[in-house]
Amino acid sequence: MNSKLKEKNWNVSLEKEISEMWENESLYDFSMEDKREIFTIDTPPPYPSGRPWHAGAAAHYSQIDMIARTARMMNYNVLFPIGIDRNGLPVEIYTEKKFKISMISTPREKFIGLCKIALDDLEVEMIATMKKMGLSGLFKQYYRTDSEDYRALTQTTFIELWEKGLIYQAMRPNNYCYKCRTTIADAEIYYMELPSKLVFIKFKLTNEKGHLLIATTRPELLSSCQVILVNPEDERFKDVINQEVEIPIFGNIVKVKSHPSAKMEFGSGAVMICSYGDYTDVLLFRELKLQEKISIDTTGRMTENANKYKGLKIKEARDRIIEDLKGLNLINKIEEINHRTPICERSKTPIEIIPMEEFYLKQIDFKQSLLEQAKKLKFHPEEHRRRLLDWIEAIAIDWPISRRRYNATEIPVWYCNACRTPNLPKPGKYYRPWIESPPFKKCKECNGEEFSGEERTFDTWMDSSISPLFISKYNRDDSFYNKTYPIQLRPQSKDIIRTWLHYTILRCIQLTDKSPFTHAWIMGYGVDEKGERMSKSKGNVIDPIPILEKNGADTFRLWSASEVNLGSDFRISEKKINGMGKFLTKLWNISKFISMFPIVKSTPLDTDKWILDELSKVVKESLNGYNDFNFFIPANKVREFIWNVFAPNYMEMVKQRAYGIDVDENSKLAAWSTLHICLKTSLLLLAPIMPFITDKIWREMYSKESIHKQIFPHAKWNFGYIQHTQNIINFNSKVWNEKRNKGISLKDPISINIPEELNLFKNDLIAMHKIN
Ligand SMILES: [Zn+2]
Repeated sequence: MNSKLKEKNWNVSLEKEISEMWENESLYDFSMEDKREIFTIDTPPPYPSGRPWHAGAAAHYSQIDMIARTARMMNYNVLFPIGIDRNGLPVEIYTEKKFKISMISTPREKFIGLCKIALDDLEVEMIATMKKMGLSGLFKQYYRTDSEDYRALTQTTFIELWEKGLIYQAMRPNNYCYKCRTTIADAEIYYMELPSKLVFIKFKLTNEKGHLLIATTRPELLSSCQVILVNPEDERFKDVINQEVEIPIFGNIVKVKSHPSAKMEFGSGAVMICSYGDYTDVLLFRELKLQEKISIDTTGRMTENANKYKGLKIKEARDRIIEDLKGLNLINKIEEINHRTPICERSKTPIEIIPMEEFYLKQIDFKQSLLEQAKKLKFHPEEHRRRLLDWIEAIAIDWPISRRRYNATEIPVWYCNACRTPNLPKPGKYYRPWIESPPFKKCKECNGEEFSGEERTFDTWMDSSISPLFISKYNRDDSFYNKTYPIQLRPQSKDIIRTWLHYTILRCIQLTDKSPFTHAWIMGYGVDEKGERMSKSKGNVIDPIPILEKNGADTFRLWSASEVNLGSDFRISEKKINGMGKFLTKLWNISKFISMFPIVKSTPLDTDKWILDELSKVVKESLNGYNDFNFFIPANKVREFIWNVFAPNYMEMVKQRAYGIDVDENSKLAAWSTLHICLKTSLLLLAPIMPFITDKIWREMYSKESIHKQIFPHAKWNFGYIQHTQNIINFNSKVWNEKRNKGISLKDPISINIPEELNLFKNDLIAMHKIN
């Protein structure tokens, strides 16, 4: 008998052929003609920024592809877009490094051109990697977030929200990163405990001899100090409340006031309030109506207010002021402490608080409806809902959406030179006000005819947060939009819950009054073998490309599905990935064997009934996993079934029957039929996880139509035979062990009693073990 599978072994190079076949067949195209229910996935557009793609990201994207394939096998018409995120800072930084230039000193148009060149190269690589991973997305029509279409939509939504009164301009102290030279939102900040010096400085009391001791980690802000606060309950300072002190070095006089925000246990208990050390200072300046005095500029250097320290960098000014205070004998002591410091997520620089005029999108007013949507959304896994709720509850300011960068969507505004009124163009087109004349003649306010174009751009989350609207063709194709929006599922990683997930819900409810999606599918981090997060600086980043080249995508994907239990962090180990290859070899060998036998229909015998029951159990469990988009369950269940139950036990028990040795015709046909049912069903259950090998086997054995056009099997059998599984496995192991102990081959005959409870399977067991 001949095997239908031509190749002797499964090998990685077959994946390339299969992938080309899929492309030639347009297997994963999306068509509106297909009348089945649409399932849309809001694929996160990956960001090409020059690093090798992290193996954790590759695992993430291969799982998103499993979602698409799962939905197809659930009989949906699946819209699985592929996009590339090309806006924003990381590419600017990459471009500066690659071409050895600085953005600030390069003409804007030239800089943007260089960003595009850098992006194009990176994008080609990224698309190739996604294809290599077996992604079944719409590569033909992949989108870019810096395309005219995309940017026009971002600008259109800005104009719509401006007209709804949800956007305003305000001069406010805000988070500022002087490395990135731009205002940033709270959502782009994280906190780190950094070693810092807590300096105890003597402030001279003006109307008596003596000093007030004040502790600070920011002595460079002395020139910005406008008040000293002590806690009203702090007995130590009862006598100095409402007195005045002289600021060391600078000589100006400020008052001591009592305020509950002063922490008695911190430093000396007396604290200087400066514009601005942190966000508490901002609130206190407002509450106490203090005049702000800014000592740090947008380049991270000291301003005129810092007198002789003007022009120094923050750190230099801090060191110099400490030295000068020492010289004046005004330092009581210096403690080394760890200080909770806000850090810019992108540049890893401590942020400053600097007042700047920015555009703000209202979000505080929407907290209630955001909370309602967050409660309605179906989270996979549930535990990540808390992260979103906590973030929404913590929102204290509206979202500053303007940035001072180049490689991003322009804010579509022209200012009237006569009256400064912002004039907005009509929505629907892409505008570049920094280089284009306005598409109108007169100022709507004063009929003025001279305008200056806005030079700022949007926070790139303004683009990313409308991805569900872009892929459903909001404002571009009403019939498409009505059929696809709200979409079904947003897959994303947990570190961007407070940015991408939050901002998307905010923007979409503002624009459409509807939550953008039904399911939020959240993935954890890929960490190294020791459980540490991967980073370039630690040197523990694993590049997925050599792994994919060596092991193939199916092995990598099977590893990813077997390792990542929905939503939790997962360890990436090359050894483990390599090990998964064994299962593909096994699956290929089993299929080769089964493919020798014709596909027939027949009535099952008892051994067949038993394995069909086991198979039904695997089907049921796997579908439970798939329904929750948790691939950990089917990957492990099907693998265990094949490795531990089907191949070593069932297949061995029916081999003699299948070969037709000493059996009647029906027994032979029953074996053939059951072997095929088990293999076919297992292939279908594995297809979303290992799309290459399953399709190859499927087409060579079962049908010319791809396995990826099939739907999931259902659990059909229930003969009540599951109870026998453990006994069968135990008995077979016992016989193998005895043969081994006796030093005879597994093919040699043996005398052994078959326990009564296995009577149903007696004939197959005798044939399998050659029992006398
Ligand atoms: Zn005007």
